[in-house]
Amino acid sequence: MFRGFSHFEHSTMDGRVNRMKSNISRKKVIAAGTVLFREGDPGGSGFFLESGQVEIWVNRADKRVILGMLTDGEFVGELSAFDLAPRSASATAVKDCVVVEFNHEQLNNRIQAMDPVMSHLIGSLVERIRATNVQINDGFESDGFLVAKAASRRALDQTCLNELTLEADLLQAVNNDEFQLHFQPIIDINQMKLAGFEALIRWHHPKRGLVRPDQFIPFAEDNNLITNITRWCVDEICQQAPEFQLAALHNPEKVQPLFLTVNLSGRDVGCAEFGEWIEGAILNSHCPPEMLKLEVTESSLMENMDTAKQMLSRLRDMGVGVAIDDFGTGHSNLAYLCELPITTLKIDRSLVTGKPESNRNLDANKPILKLVMGLANDLGVTVVAEGVEDTCDLSMLQVLGCDFAQGYLFSKPLPAAEALELVRSWDWRDFQTENEMAQSA
Ligand code: C2E
Ligand code: CA
Ligand code: CA
Repeated sequence: MFRGFSHFEHSTMDGRVNRMKSNISRKKVIAAGTVLFREGDPGGSGFFLESGQVEIWVNRADKRVILGMLTDGEFVGELSAFDLAPRSASATAVKDCVVVEFNHEQLNNRIQAMDPVMSHLIGSLVERIRATNVQINDGFESDGFLVAKAASRRALDQTCLNELTLEADLLQAVNNDEFQLHFQPIIDINQMKLAGFEALIRWHHPKRGLVRPDQFIPFAEDNNLITNITRWCVDEICQQAPEFQLAALHNPEKVQPLFLTVNLSGRDVGCAEFGEWIEGAILNSHCPPEMLKLEVTESSLMENMDTAKQMLSRLRDMGVGVAIDDFGTGHSNLAYLCELPITTLKIDRSLVTGKPESNRNLDANKPILKLVMGLANDLGVTVVAEGVEDTCDLSMLQVLGCDFAQGYLFSKPLPAAEALELVRSWDWRDFQTENEMAQSA
């Protein structure tokens, strides 16, 4: 189990919460009584209060004036995180709290990426809130007591909150063993034998339930966490590979020597040391290098051509396979195909089944599919068609000379135990009969 990071930080009663230095949201436990920050302290960071209670207060004429009481789901110190101005009030945890800390840069990145009108509007609103706070502060001299709650705190942007907490939770997910690999079978459609599996990650979030990879891989990429996650996947595959080999021995007539594929992200491909790390992971496991196949997209190759070439060639020399994922969607210069040690083209689902908005029409894509088959043939690489959902797709692909297929027709991605059971019991004829019976029922 990878133990690369531990980011659940604890504050102490005596120390104010340290200003965060990295660019990743961090979850912290704050004990009741801790001062998060004092009036006049430098700004630059803020907190999202996941649970607990925080009192916002100022000292006026030797009196502690409580401005507000913040609870679950509210921001603390967000204005200074936004405009870097000194803290206009102090904040103290009055109950034990769990907070997610974020910094100015993180907010700023989001503001920069926004519609310019919206970012201007937010800037104006912050200025207006600041001006109102000054007026309120002036009133303290005479009134002595005022409980105020900025209206902006109520108007929390749920999407932004979700993102911040998701980032923080992702940091802990590897250590907490919250990831799982599911395996989707890949079938040799000439012989209808089971040939391999694509490993697809799943995140079992303690509160949100199952989080789909599309919902967290982009965050992991933005926050440099993706390589840790890919390492976890490779380790897991290397560990599970012997079990798949063993299961295949129980069904030698209908199962080929299996391969397992892992998805690499652009960041992995751009990291020279990552290739060495994979090499080490394979050598330190019982996974034969020929059993592992790396899936890389055209775009990630384009962005990191030199490193990718070096890294993939070295791994290919060991026997590791290299597949181009989502082939046909990249609009890239195909010259790279001759420069890289590729073993497989994986045709994107949109080319196999058509765009979701159009009627499913494999016929319309036939010329492109033929072109890919011809190209693969000339390059001496195999072709996997993704997203094969019915027997019409399958027959057409067989006629076109496609080697392998993957899709819901055969199976959705399965947890490891079910995937192993599929290996032991795979028989296309039985499978087809069951499928037909299920459809006619
Ligand atoms: P992908 O690499 O193109 O993976 C195939 C996706 O298509 C999977 O979704 C799979 O469940 C889905 N799929 C397979 N057959 C069919 C079908 O017949 N019909 C339809 N409609 N969908 C089908 P999933 O598991 O949600 O993964 C989505 C994407 O997330 C993957 O696309 C891949 O880009 C990324 N991903 C998944 N696991 C990992 C991982 O471990 N690391 C990285 N870097 N990316 C991953
Ligand atoms: Ca893939
Ligand atoms: Ca794909």
